[in-house]
Amino acid sequence: MEPLLPINSLRAIAACSPTWKAIAVKPTAHHQAPNDAQARKDIEPVVCYPIDSFPAFDRAPFEAAKVGMKLVDEVIVQPRDASCFSVKAGQFFRITCPDGPQVGDLNLWQADNLEERFFSGKTRALHGTHVGTGDRLWSNLPYLRPLATITDDTLDWYGYDAYGGGVHDVIGTRCDPYTNTLLNDNEYHYCCHSNLTRALADHTGKPASEVEHLVHDVLNVFMCTGFTRDTQQYFMKASPVRKGDYLEFFAETDLLGGLSACPGGDCSASHSSEEAQCYTLGVEIYQPQADLPEGWQPAHASSYSRNHGIK
Ligand SMILES: [Zn+2]
Repeated sequence: MEPLLPINSLRAIAACSPTWKAIAVKPTAHHQAPNDAQARKDIEPVVCYPIDSFPAFDRAPFEAAKVGMKLVDEVIVQPRDASCFSVKAGQFFRITCPDGPQVGDLNLWQADNLEERFFSGKTRALHGTHVGTGDRLWSNLPYLRPLATITDDTLDWYGYDAYGGGVHDVIGTRCDPYTNTLLNDNEYHYCCHSNLTRALADHTGKPASEVEHLVHDVLNVFMCTGFTRDTQQYFMKASPVRKGDYLEFFAETDLLGGLSACPGGDCSASHSSEEAQCYTLGVEIYQPQADLPEGWQPAHASSYSRNHGIK
């Protein structure tokens, strides 16, 4: 009998070996179900991270702060490329769709310390697989502070479709040349990971090799994704975004952003290649003229002592 391999090993083999490609991602059960299997499955789940302790999102103060806000900077991100942009705490920024259906891969760093960056995994654990108005984008440990709050989303009507798909996911990592080489055995240099690396190298004036590790898992802006019902695999489908749509954020601290116009275009068919029709993306940065939301202060890093139980 072949030794059982962990699921991840089976997936890796499936990715590498043509013989394994035809085999379902999940192996058939190899062990007899116990007598109480159904009872164990029937236990109701509980939410891992209830966020009832967070103050409920109040749209009105943000709307008031936006009255008369002034556009102070604008960046156009070219197709299959990325650009960096800077936002001050208390400013708003919008990712826009100026030309045609296009998804964007967003990275956020704390402007004064690029080691502090968006933590898509914990954001997903706190807010769910897809984010929208009122959700916050959290930074990595040991900081764990909100980098930005989503304050408006013209695609908020989409919700979840019949396939379980939604927009603006924090599931996918970003298309990258390493996975592309693994799966397709060719080199493609304009995946979002590479685009973001080039943009950050350009912004910092450092070689790509010195900044690549700072590129991190993204917020997939405008991308429509979910998990297949049968194999629970990550899927994408044509983004519902159209010219004029935007996703709007309020900066909770000084930020450096990086945005890649994904080579997948609207991600209806493929990515990591030159095949898809791609369009530009825009970033608009706004300075509120009115008062900031009442009681708002720049976000502080976690107050945890970092003792970790060490005596
Ligand atoms: Zn991409």
